Formats: sequence, structure tokens, C-alpha cells
Amino acid sequence: MDNCLFCKIIKGEIPSTKIYEDDEFYAFLDIKPINQGHTLVVPKKHCRNLLDFPKSEETDLMEFLKKVAKAVTKGVGADGFNLGMNNEGAAGQVVFHAHFHIIPRFKNDGLTSWPHKEFDNEELERIKDKIVKYL
Ligand code: AMP
Ligand code: ZN
Repeated sequence: MDNCLFCKIIKGEIPSTKIYEDDEFYAFLDIKPINQGHTLVVPKKHCRNLLDFPKSEETDLMEFLKKVAKAVTKGVGADGFNLGMNNEGAAGQVVFHAHFHIIPRFKNDGLTSWPHKEFDNEELERIKDKIVKYL
């Protein structure tokens, strides 16, 4: 896509710190990492988010993510990693070319997880009913 930042990175029109690539995917270091080794994995064919990601590439994507996550974790000596994806602006997506964040985690790295809300069973049931009719 012409005006897409990540399409330009994939084509080499904008520089990036490449970690790895194959025919379908491209992995590079995030320019503003949450922790050292924070890596972005993007499909080479432009799509906006997970919901329009092609089914034919799903299996290969998982293999690619695992391969890169393993190398990143070992490479920076992390104790674990978060795999994240922001879908749409409300969820924090800023670049509208689908991408996965591999974020290395270290014991006591000071990052906290999201705050949780308290819902009783009745509320959970009501929410479930709203969701399942779309499956
Ligand atoms: P998101 O909020 O999920 O859309 O994430 C976009 C990510 O892209 C952010 O973590 C940015 O730091 C990262 N980013 C933006 N521009 C670049 C760039 N030129 N090279 C590497 N990472 C970038
Ligand atoms: Zn794109």
C-alpha cells in the first residue's frame, strides 16, 4: 500500500533493523522498544489487522513468530516474552499494517500487567450471550 509505513520498511524504502525475513513475513526491531529486543513481525502483504489476515498464511505465521521469539528471548537473555497485537485505534494500534509485538520480559523488569475489573457471574453470562450469537 502506497502510503503505509511498514510497507515502505518491507520494501527497504525506509531503513529498519532487520532481524529476519522469509517470503511472507518480515521481523525488525521496534524503534521505541518497551524492553531491549522488542521486535515487530509483519506480513509482507498489506493487511490492516488480524481479522483480514489471510487464512492461507496462518500456519506459517505461527511458525515464524515462534522462531523469532525464541531467538529474541535467547539473544537478550530474557526470562519470558509477551506476544501482543493491537487491533484498531481503541486497542492502541497506531500503524494500520497488521503487526505482532514480541516483547522480551525479565524478572522484576518493572512492567505491570493490565488492571482487572470485577464482574459477577450474571454479568459474565450476559456478556457471553452477546458474543456467542456471532460465532
Ligand atoms: P502499534 O501501536 O501496535 O501500532 O505499534 C506500532 C509500533 O511501531 C510502535 O511500537 C512504534 O514504536 C513502532 N514503530 C513506528 N515507526 C517505526 C519505525 N520506523 N521503525 C521501527 N518501529 C517503528
Ligand atoms: Zn502496509
